[in-house]
Amino acid sequence: MKYIFVTGGVVSSLGKGLAAASIGALLEHRGLKTLMQKFDPYLNVDPGTMSPYQHGEVYVLDDGAETDLDLGHYERFTSGVMSRMNNMTSGQVFDAVIKKERRGDYLGKTVQFIPHVTDEIKSRIHKVSEDNPSVDVLITEIGGTVGDMEGLLFIEALRQFALEVGKDNVCFIHVTLLPYIKAAGEVKTKPTQQSVAKLRELGIQPDIIICRTEADLDEDNRRKIAMFCNVEKKNVVAFRDVAHTIYECPLDLRRDKIDRLVVDRLGLGHTPAPALEDWETFVRRVIHPKHKVTIAVAGKYIELQDAYKSIYESLIHAGAHHDTKVNIVRVEAEAIEDHGAKAVIGEVDGILVPGGFGDRGIEGKIQAAQYARENNIPYFGICLGMQIATIEFARNVCKLKNANSTEFDKSTPFPVICLQEEQKGVEDMGATMRLGSCESILLAGTKASDLYNGADRIHERHRHRYEFNSDFQDKLQESGLVISSVSAKEGLVEIIELPQHPFFVGAQFHPEFQSKPNKPHPLFAGFVKASLDRAQIQ
Ligand code: GLN
Repeated sequence: MKYIFVTGGVVSSLGKGLAAASIGALLEHRGLKTLMQKFDPYLNVDPGTMSPYQHGEVYVLDDGAETDLDLGHYERFTSGVMSRMNNMTSGQVFDAVIKKERRGDYLGKTVQFIPHVTDEIKSRIHKVSEDNPSVDVLITEIGGTVGDMEGLLFIEALRQFALEVGKDNVCFIHVTLLPYIKAAGEVKTKPTQQSVAKLRELGIQPDIIICRTEADLDEDNRRKIAMFCNVEKKNVVAFRDVAHTIYECPLDLRRDKIDRLVVDRLGLGHTPAPALEDWETFVRRVIHPKHKVTIAVAGKYIELQDAYKSIYESLIHAGAHHDTKVNIVRVEAEAIEDHGAKAVIGEVDGILVPGGFGDRGIEGKIQAAQYARENNIPYFGICLGMQIATIEFARNVCKLKNANSTEFDKSTPFPVICLQEEQKGVEDMGATMRLGSCESILLAGTKASDLYNGADRIHERHRHRYEFNSDFQDKLQESGLVISSVSAKEGLVEIIELPQHPFFVGAQFHPEFQSKPNKPHPLFAGFVKASLDRAQIQ
């Protein structure tokens, strides 16, 4: 197996994850089998307990691992299906080392950062390699910025790893920023030089430097970076700000032939240059769509770019599928409480209420669902958004006054959403929700079944603690709510819908984690289509 390690320099938020994912996509298009992995130097065991303000979205894998949102990029850009082995944090590394120490595995030795902690990091790379023997290239992205104290052990582990597996089997790629100084009208290379110097101080000479740049990268600057950073000029690659969509990133990186450089560096033999027609078609559809819809996403972390990342991406995928630009209006649910649904979302073609925790903005979301239901506006509720739709229906259609989820009102007379027995005694917050993929059965003849092309079983990823309360099932069904999917094992409600409505669907799971550029998720595709139908008759 060959290895690519992607580090970052100068600043964070450079698009390192996108660069890594794009390299994965390009290599896949050359017919190579790739797998991706992320190392996060923070001490949390996983991001599951972190606030979206700290971390953005938590991306959930099939096996229930709560991971960094870069794994979402990896799964959207490549065909690799990740597992919990593909995201390692310092928290996991130290946890493993301390457990081994307590078990006595170190046979009386003094346990040290080097070799014990670095060995633990390297063992994860080896484990992923061993578990995936058919993979040609394993791409590992290291979170944070070179020079950060908390990343040092990872960098040291990579240095040792390269020595052990042979330097010809490893390609180090360093992603940096070339700031553009407006007053001088110049692109500056000094921060890149210094960041590479730092990396070399730590024993790593990058093979390829990816320069994130607003302006283009001219020959002079390429030469300068090559000379000061000790790389060949052709290995200085520009990564320009993309004009329209992140799906342009692989196309941009291909301009400087990054895939070719990697293949040559790793001696991967003769692989055909990637055709990328599917990407080009997709990007064209995103950039030049025929139609347009406006969809409101009514949430709680709306001002954050990354909190609903996969949802926004899924809307783009579904939009491209229908040759439609999805204009996303980000709505703070509390604004609906203050100004009323009509004033805030009266003009949109579709309303999406995403997942969430805690009671801020809940009543605003309930008003959004009511407004969508009563005015025949397509509504798509995801996880919390499905629970919201259930509460709204119970209150306003079934007349169950003050119906609620026990998450928000412990003493509600009608707990239509509540905790399952096994969740009641849970005290630890980390990794204790209902997590990961599970099989559900679809009821034939429903909208959900139609959207999934008549499939009778589906597999979707979960991340929630509360559930539809089966005690209220009959009551809600008598009033017209249709339960179109239940989990195969426990019979838990997975999808609800209103048959008389153009599109009113709530999913207890997270469809956004399985949508891809040329393979939109069926529920998102159906939602965007319904919104488009509405936009066209308005
Ligand atoms: N807070 C809700 C629960 O825990 C919904 C979670 C979510 O939307 N991911 O069940």
